[in-house]
Amino acid sequence: MDLDLATAAIQQTRIELAATCRWASRLGFQSGVCNHFSVAVPGHPNLMLINPEGFFWDEVTASSLVLATHDGTILSTNGNTVELTAFCIHAPIHRLLPQATAVLHTHMHHATAICTREGGTVAPTYLSGMSFYNRIAYDRGFSGAAVTPAEGERLAGMIGDKIVLMMDNHGPLVIGQTLGEALLTLIYLEDTCKIQLLAESGNATLQPIREDLLKRVKVPNQMFEAYGRTFMKALIRRLTREEPDFLS
Ligand SMILES: [Zn+2]
Repeated sequence: MDLDLATAAIQQTRIELAATCRWASRLGFQSGVCNHFSVAVPGHPNLMLINPEGFFWDEVTASSLVLATHDGTILSTNGNTVELTAFCIHAPIHRLLPQATAVLHTHMHHATAICTREGGTVAPTYLSGMSFYNRIAYDRGFSGAAVTPAEGERLAGMIGDKIVLMMDNHGPLVIGQTLGEALLTLIYLEDTCKIQLLAESGNATLQPIREDLLKRVKVPNQMFEAYGRTFMKALIRRLTREEPDFLS
């Protein structure tokens, strides 16, 4: 394959993915050295960038990322590898959902706690959580760790036009048109779940938001995308100041 994989757009995407890993690490979203973030390669929708196996997110740099095909062939030459389960979840979602430029999966505690409840759902009863109204799919068929692409294909089928998949007995997965948008979704999802769990403690009843208000919030999705870009710029600015090695 004779591909130009050193374009300015690809380098920018590498920086954004490394920044996403670093920020999510600060938020405590990683479990051990597991969990994966991936993004489609600009100009090459059949390729993806993903964080390397065995690294803490706060060690990830732009050059340590793995660039691979959807069938698992690694094209990057830094010697880094990717976990099998990461390929089995992320690659089929990129392949089957063109809107899934970014795919982020964590076991962050509050969202995962909702995933472990029988019939657990995220209640959009808080301002920043309103954007999740009708945007969350639920996988009620937990079947263990993903070890074949068929499992990722099953998950992609469930996501459809949603932006979040809450996987029973496992954890959340979010998609986005940009990394900034997807990371914001991840942060707001964790906030929403945390606030819900706190609000429900002591068997308190959640105060619902009126349906007409929830429906109205569906409109500014482009606004959220723009906010995602602003957020990513701010992230890169701060990380460049505080931990500039992520750029290397
Ligand atoms: Zn997982």
